[in-house]
Amino acid sequence: CGVFGAYHIQNAAAITYYGLHTLQHRGQEASGIAVGEGAKIQVRKGKGLTIDVFTREKLEQMPGKVAVGHVRYSTAGGQENANIQPIVARGRVHDVAIVHNGQIVNEKELRIELEEAGCIFQGTSDSEIVLHMIQKEQGTMRERVMKTARKLVGAFSILVLCEDAIYAIRDQKGLRPLSYAKMQDGYVIGSETCAFEVLGLYTHTDVKPGELVEFKDGIVRRFDYEPAGETHLCAMEYIYFARPDSVIENLNVHRFRKETGRLLALRDDVEADIVIGVPDSSLSAAIGYAEASGIPFETGLVKNRFVGRTFIQPTQALRDRGVRMKLSAIGPIVAGKSVVMIDDSIVRGTTSRRIVRLLKDAGAREVHVRIASPVITSPCFYGVDTSTKEELIGARMDEAAICEAIEADSLRFMSIDDLKAAAGGVGLCTACFDGSYCTDLYSYGEKL
Ligand code: 5GP
Ligand code: SF4
Ligand code: MG
Repeated sequence: CGVFGAYHIQNAAAITYYGLHTLQHRGQEASGIAVGEGAKIQVRKGKGLTIDVFTREKLEQMPGKVAVGHVRYSTAGGQENANIQPIVARGRVHDVAIVHNGQIVNEKELRIELEEAGCIFQGTSDSEIVLHMIQKEQGTMRERVMKTARKLVGAFSILVLCEDAIYAIRDQKGLRPLSYAKMQDGYVIGSETCAFEVLGLYTHTDVKPGELVEFKDGIVRRFDYEPAGETHLCAMEYIYFARPDSVIENLNVHRFRKETGRLLALRDDVEADIVIGVPDSSLSAAIGYAEASGIPFETGLVKNRFVGRTFIQPTQALRDRGVRMKLSAIGPIVAGKSVVMIDDSIVRGTTSRRIVRLLKDAGAREVHVRIASPVITSPCFYGVDTSTKEELIGARMDEAAICEAIEADSLRFMSIDDLKAAAGGVGLCTACFDGSYCTDLYSYGEKL
């Protein structure tokens, strides 16, 4: 998911719209904006892309100088409408709105506690739990958000909007990114820095792991709700999820990906004619590989940008007849060639197999698959859909077996050490590669 907020800025809803549109790669299922004016909050949300949910007229009907927004990619919580964010609680004194990126791993425990205390939930998402927790705590809004943050285990970058103020919290491990930037006499806050650059803002500050940043009374105040531990930023943010122009923990995503490509090449001795990347997320790594290996970079695959998640994919029968809507090979480029094909990750293995076939059908002589991340062997509990253990091809097979399954001429993954090296000094979560989770894990209300 992606979150964005605008604080103390004219037309905050419109600014949030631009921010969300720029974060659209983080979620395409649903989109929403909540705008505050004093104690009241107005919310508009719906299924689909940000551009489908909002029109200029709708945005003009949302006046106010404080807003938060969300683009949704559902992992937990299902697709029902009640789970679309922002989630708003109506209060006697004031309304509260919340947007959340991440996954709370002790959500069942917290939900049971709240239900026993009489809370009723509208949806099944963990974000609603957080909202109830904040409502139940005592003290100022900042204190309530802080107390809540301390009880949450897992991954969260959360924005809370209440009474013309925004409270931003980031989980103690820093699993999900969150930054803010000064804009006019206010601020914007967002999951990725690419959303600031589109607004012409080129400097930003990261919310630190374990930090609460309060945007209130026209100024910023920073608090550690917990002492900052070691950072465990989700490695998949760099590998696949984030946009290449974003900077996370002072490291540019494109730079990181190029470095993974360079390291893959350094460990490789394959003889090939061209290097290609799978658009869009693997192009940076392919460029890095080509630069380091001396094998020329080529555009061997073209992506149809308009195939979204809601696009009706061809049936198996149509696919068997060659109907492939998402990717096409450039025949004249790959025909007769030995190709190094770089992809960012293998989850279920179906994508790689399809692309190898596509390239071979277009006449490629050999296809050597290089993956710019390690083998995924464990599920993610922190909000990335790397699916269940049973579905992970890397949990069932070794490299040789995967190579055979995807019908490649050779296959290599990146080592976990090289992945960490590519991140330089940034501490990473690598749990889906090595099974070492940085938080406690819970199952149905019980700590594992
Ligand atoms: P699979 O191996 O399951 O067929 O798919 C892997 C491909 O899916 C990769 O090329 C990656 O770019 C893309 N992908 C889509 N969503 C995700 C995600 O949430 N995590 C990862 N690691 N890859 C994803
Ligand atoms: Fe990211 Fe993998 Fe950690 Fe999940 S387990 S947060 S996908 S690195
Ligand atoms: Mg891909």
